[in-house]
Amino acid sequence: MTAASTPSAPSPPQAAWHALDGAAVAQALQSDMTRGLSAAEAARRLAAHGANTLPEPPPRPAWHVLLQQFRSPLIYILFVAALIALALGHYGDAAVILAVVAVNAAIGAAQEGRAERSMAALRQLSALRVRVRRDGAETEVAARELVPGDLLALAAGDAVGADARLVDAAQCRAAEAALTGESVPVAKSTSPVPEATGLADRHDMLYSGTYVTGGRALALVVATGAHTEVGRIAGLTEGAADQRTPLERRIERFGRWLVGASLVLFVAVMLLGLWRGLPAVEVLMVAISQMVSVVPEGLPVAVTIALAVGMQRMASRGAVIRRLSAVETLGSTTVICSDKTGTLTRNEMTVTRLWWPEGAAGLRADVAGSGYAPEGAISRDGAPAAGPALTALAEAAALCNDATLRQAADGRWSVAGDPTEGALCTLAAKAGVDVAEVRAAAPRLAELPFDADRQLMATLHDDGRGGARLLVKGAPEAVLKLLPPGEAVAAARAEAEALAGGALRVLAFAAADGLPADASPEPEAHAGRLRLLGLAGQIDPPREEARAAVAACHAAGVRVVMVTGDHRLTGLAIARALGIAGPDDRAVDGPTLERLGEAELRDGIAHIAVFARVQPAQKLRIVEALQAGGEVVAMTGDGVNDAPALARADVGVAMGITGTEVAKSAARIVVTDDDFATIVGAVEQGRVVYGNLKKVILYLFATSLDEVALLLLALGGGQPLPLLAVQILWINIVTEGTLTVNLVMDPPDGDEMRRPPTPRDEPLVDRAMLGRIALMATTAVAVTYGWYATRVGAGLPIEQVRTETFTLMAMCQWFNVLNCQSRWRSVFSLGWLRNPWLAGGLALGIALQVAVVHWAPLGALFHTVALPAATWGTLAVLASAVLWVEEARKLLARLRGGPRRAAHSSN
Ligand code: ADP
Ligand code: MG
Repeated sequence: MTAASTPSAPSPPQAAWHALDGAAVAQALQSDMTRGLSAAEAARRLAAHGANTLPEPPPRPAWHVLLQQFRSPLIYILFVAALIALALGHYGDAAVILAVVAVNAAIGAAQEGRAERSMAALRQLSALRVRVRRDGAETEVAARELVPGDLLALAAGDAVGADARLVDAAQCRAAEAALTGESVPVAKSTSPVPEATGLADRHDMLYSGTYVTGGRALALVVATGAHTEVGRIAGLTEGAADQRTPLERRIERFGRWLVGASLVLFVAVMLLGLWRGLPAVEVLMVAISQMVSVVPEGLPVAVTIALAVGMQRMASRGAVIRRLSAVETLGSTTVICSDKTGTLTRNEMTVTRLWWPEGAAGLRADVAGSGYAPEGAISRDGAPAAGPALTALAEAAALCNDATLRQAADGRWSVAGDPTEGALCTLAAKAGVDVAEVRAAAPRLAELPFDADRQLMATLHDDGRGGARLLVKGAPEAVLKLLPPGEAVAAARAEAEALAGGALRVLAFAAADGLPADASPEPEAHAGRLRLLGLAGQIDPPREEARAAVAACHAAGVRVVMVTGDHRLTGLAIARALGIAGPDDRAVDGPTLERLGEAELRDGIAHIAVFARVQPAQKLRIVEALQAGGEVVAMTGDGVNDAPALARADVGVAMGITGTEVAKSAARIVVTDDDFATIVGAVEQGRVVYGNLKKVILYLFATSLDEVALLLLALGGGQPLPLLAVQILWINIVTEGTLTVNLVMDPPDGDEMRRPPTPRDEPLVDRAMLGRIALMATTAVAVTYGWYATRVGAGLPIEQVRTETFTLMAMCQWFNVLNCQSRWRSVFSLGWLRNPWLAGGLALGIALQVAVVHWAPLGALFHTVALPAATWGTLAVLASAVLWVEEARKLLARLRGGPRRAAHSSN
């Protein structure tokens, strides 16, 4: 390291940071325990120390990737064929075969490189970001920019980006299994431990690669990159393990099966040819090239590219794929379980209703205004509301709160922090409470951060008289049960129900006064002294796009289930508004769910549209119950405790904005805008990818069958070989090669979301496809063999007949590929430039075919002769039969109900 020579950058840690106290660490690192580094200093250290990344294995050199392409049995066979051609003095043929090998390798290497690059780009997208304090202000930076001395700000769910020494901690716990193997989260604090303490017991340290699972902390970075503990252990990151998806593996098995079939074909061609007394060498060469042609060597790469393209399209719409397999699973998803707040709703809260205990039934007030702007009157029956009870409630709302409001230059107000709490800042201001002032007057002594399991938070404040005041806020059920039962509590309970029924998110507030300054922030400890302050109900309007997205799901045979921490009635009201819950659907809350038996839940779950007051642990049960019923489940989540459910779901979906790093690392996709519509868009993309792969398989099958049948018919009929080895190779490499990969780039058909989900175990070649393959291949064979037999019968020179058959065969492939673009829609309704890649590939293929027929040097290599223009015309008309037959089938299918009918049949 050259860093040690830079005076302002402390040397990498030899020191036992855990044995020093916080101040000493800050001093040694020349940093500050509250302000962090300055931005300039951080930049200087970054230059001196290098990025906070683990050394990566060097990328595979290009020649290595290229060489890898030659390691396939197909290539060996082609080499043998080239040797035979050489031995026989057929230098042209040998050259063509070797060129085929080279082109194959080059294309393979280029495509592999492309797939690898897009994966790397996506890894970049999901790179870790962390919060640090620089110049005293909190900012978010990429974890790779962390330097020693940086002050990390960590909260529950954050990933620790570098090794760091705690300088401030509130209830901080960390999961360090990745480093120590210890599965239970460990409590962290700031007090130093003896120097000899082992890694697992250094309570004052946080290590890179671990997660904060509870509470919050400030910690000074002491080591980055290769100097961290994981960096030292790992040395190098493990190379990309086998990350092949189930679909890729299925395609591979399918390919192996085809290799077997091609061997049988080889033997059949040899036997038939020899029986018919054709020249042995020529038959051998044709048998070899036919065998090579049948094997879809481009298919595995096409699958990878299809998945990668799908990933890119999803990423550009805000869904970042973390596991490639999610692309295909998304397409088969049958149920999406979605969070409410922020995903189905906008997460823009505004308090509209208040209630506080005064008199027998308490007092209600309305809050005017919209958004976070602190403007709007609080009124009771049209008259302005005021009084000590309202002020006490507003003060609690301001104090038991971590959010702050900001006003941008254009006058718009926004929240830094939790929107639920931002709305409370706005409320406090509307009630005439200066948030900054009351926070300064009553400093926070201790806190219990909000926890989705307990659904409440508590803060302990200096009361200015040497004692402390505890404030509690949370879900009414959670807060009210801490209070001594009585009239006020009963009234509050009824009021909370009523507010929830109006789709409001309700919070209850309570306070305990006169506590000692070192009291615990645990509300249970002070249950006897707590008294009720009141309720606040906030609206969170549904996202506009969500309604349409829910409708799209229903059309696509995908159920939507809301899973929320909010009250049952709040959830149900919003689910109704969005069309998630129909008249027969139920809403079930956590406690009820708890009482349901496994069987009861499994049977009833089809009619439960809303799970409310759900604790994260219960999400796992919901996923399992749905899966037991055969569903393919997508489940959203953001918190630490959502991780098990996310990992268990078929597609775990983490929220990009509100999601914690723990949730993201357990999920298969991350939705960057938290929007439900984005998840639905990803489902659609998943279907597009799968559909395109099926198009490619259909195309490859139809064309191979066509060539094989032509060859076998001619051999069986005792006619000369209809195509020569090099011509077969041309069809395989040039004609197909210019089309296959481009078919994978096909845009959506538009009916992806009007079909039911594809069953996960559906065969790659389903019955509908078999029918189309048979139709397309039969037509093509009738045309090509018919033409060939007629021309041979007419006694034309065999070179000319082969050139015509060869060209006719290529043309059939072109029409085939047009057919394969859609199962239902006519080519003429699709538009020619809808897939520019395919149009380009087609144009290139046609140009090359003209060249191979009319350009003498190529003609000599491929044994072709020039054809008159009229013949080209005749051949094109004949080949178009392949198109007309499919067009007729599509028309019939559409008349019979098309995709809608398919939705009701099995596939
Ligand atoms: P969701 O995100 O599904 O709407 P949450 O788990 O965020 O649900 O919230 C569940 C309940 O916890 C809410 O209905 C509310 O009453 C309460 N709550 C939410 N946020 C806070 C907070 N910051 N402080 C205290 N209570 C909260
Ligand atoms: Mg929430």
